[in-house]
Amino acid sequence: MPETKTITAGVEKWLAAFQDALTARDGGVLKNLFVLDSYWRDVLSFTWRIETVTGADAVAEGLLANVPRIRPDGFEIDKRRTPPRRVTRAGVTAIEAIFRFETAEGRGSGVLRLVPDASGGGAPKAWTLLTVLEEIKGYEERPGRWRPQGKVYSRDFRGPNWLDERTVSAAYAERDPAVLVVGGGQAGLTAAARLGQLQVDTLIVDREQRVGDNWRNRYHALVLHNQTHVNHLPYMPFPPNWPAYLPKDKVAGWFEAYAESMELNYWTASEFEGGSYDEDKQRWSVTVRRADGTTRELHPRHIVMATGVSGIPNLPDIPSLRNFAGTILHSSQYSHGSAWKSKKALVIGSGNSGHDVAQDLHASGANVTLVQRRSTMVVNVEPSAQLPYALYDEGPPLEDCDLITMSMPLALAKTSHIKLTEQAKQLDQPLLDSLAQRGFKLDFGDDGAGWQFKYLTRGGGYYFNVGCSDLIVNGEVGLAQFSDIAEFVAEGARMQSGEILAADLIVLATGYEGQEHLVGKLFGAEMARRVGPIWGFGEGQELRNMFMRTPQPGLWFIAGSFAQCRIYSKYLGLQIKACELGLLRERRDAADERATGDLAAVRENPAQVP
Ligand SMILES: Cc1cc2nc3c(=O)[nH]c(=O)nc-3n(C[C@H](O)[C@H](O)[C@H](O)COP(=O)(O)OP(=O)(O)OC[C@H]3O[C@@H](n4cnc5c(N)ncnc54)[C@H](O)[C@@H]3O)c2cc1C
Repeated sequence: MPETKTITAGVEKWLAAFQDALTARDGGVLKNLFVLDSYWRDVLSFTWRIETVTGADAVAEGLLANVPRIRPDGFEIDKRRTPPRRVTRAGVTAIEAIFRFETAEGRGSGVLRLVPDASGGGAPKAWTLLTVLEEIKGYEERPGRWRPQGKVYSRDFRGPNWLDERTVSAAYAERDPAVLVVGGGQAGLTAAARLGQLQVDTLIVDREQRVGDNWRNRYHALVLHNQTHVNHLPYMPFPPNWPAYLPKDKVAGWFEAYAESMELNYWTASEFEGGSYDEDKQRWSVTVRRADGTTRELHPRHIVMATGVSGIPNLPDIPSLRNFAGTILHSSQYSHGSAWKSKKALVIGSGNSGHDVAQDLHASGANVTLVQRRSTMVVNVEPSAQLPYALYDEGPPLEDCDLITMSMPLALAKTSHIKLTEQAKQLDQPLLDSLAQRGFKLDFGDDGAGWQFKYLTRGGGYYFNVGCSDLIVNGEVGLAQFSDIAEFVAEGARMQSGEILAADLIVLATGYEGQEHLVGKLFGAEMARRVGPIWGFGEGQELRNMFMRTPQPGLWFIAGSFAQCRIYSKYLGLQIKACELGLLRERRDAADERATGDLAAVRENPAQVP
């Protein structure tokens, strides 16, 4: 038999056995289908949570616990998608297959990875399993031939036309939105676009003057660090002839077009000032300050915080900075170096922003020194920084790549990134050696897991070299260590050696505060305490409080790269839709989170909603 047929037959056999074990609710047989150190990641389809379970015993137990409620059925290879194939993931060769299935609530898809049975003789077993809810039955999105007909405005010539309807819809003159999205960058736009397709009335508010200003107002030289084909927004991919690395203003313009095309209700120049949640009415009372200074009180049932992981500038407490007589800016306030031609600048912080600002100042004719506070990972933007996206060059369409990306549990993603970091190190060795010789302090992340894990845990601590490292190596951009600074004085920094590092400008490229600070500011300390840390993993295997129910009913968070927002906005939207339909109860505490019931009973008796 040709290899592809053997692979397909093996996958079909496993899926059939899996289905039988679930239907028979046979834990012993089910467990035996998985290798001992296996992983099951569920995105809403079984558990209405995003969670990863490790080990054959726990996987079988977790799956079976939900079977009575969701009655999973119809597991089969999805013939419309990338066929099963042999791949290497995290250094392990496996058969990878995309499948589909149904539950009482919806339709799902998943990714299965089979590896040989350890004993050698038996059938292949599952190493990883991903199950994902793709749509809720009866509430599917309406693309292609199911598209809306627009009959209301196209047949009745006397009534309002499309624009009239859009204007009324966006004004919220006599109604409240069901969902208020705070922040209209890629996180807010993608969340609102998904909710719109699910017919959930959604309003975005952003304090910036124009859609896209979140990118437009960043420093002059900024282009995206990863390539266009991994950064598409849902429903509306970038044109195929666009450059590989998008300049910030092109992204900003696209955001404006996206909001318009996706018919998103978007209030610009509107600052969200916070508010409170009414437990009895299960809705918020919040205030938004409009451009003309007036305020509007809104009562949405849900708030989606899409204010960015790069939201509140982190301003380190350096008392002697008060002595400095020149200008101090946070990197978020820096836009262009032209005003600093022939002037001296210190840029404190050696992540992406620090390096890019230093390079921009240098290009504008300033005399710049980068001051390193902590060791930093440096990767050349090409090819090293693109290595993690190799999957998106393998051939499968974007939606299959996204599913495969989701199917890597945290532990395996980490193993994979340790390998990629080793590869990047070898590719970049000449640059890294030269930087080390100049005294630049390098690191490669916790356990050598590289920049992706730095991003997911701290939101920074790395630089994609687009030229600044070379300027440091050849001495065109100076380098100093923060630990060598004794204090800041009126003229600049006095070093431990007594030498003065003169400066007219100090840029603090010192990163951003976590979102929990913003929750405290907008909703009070008690709510911040209840919600807890946002982003990063802590002891768990999923990003904390991201894209899923939080301990505060009606409060949701979305943030991250273009790819993260494209992928997880869908599941955020489905959860909010499920809450709106009464299929899913907002999370109140851990006990509620674990509660499960029979869905049929739930539909008849909403009190039993999970
Ligand atoms: C310099 C830089 C370069 C980056 N390059 C890349 C890259 O190449 N590829 C990639 O995938 N990612 C990149 N990122 C990471 C990430 O994609 C960006 O940070 C992105 O902007 C995050 O989008 P967001 O929608 O989550 O948040 P943001 O873009 O930060 O948008 C948040 C929005 O919320 C609004 N807001 C905040 N508070 C309020 C309030 N109270 N009321 C009303 N509005 C409010 C803000 O005005 C802002 O428009 C980069 C980040 C930085 C800082």
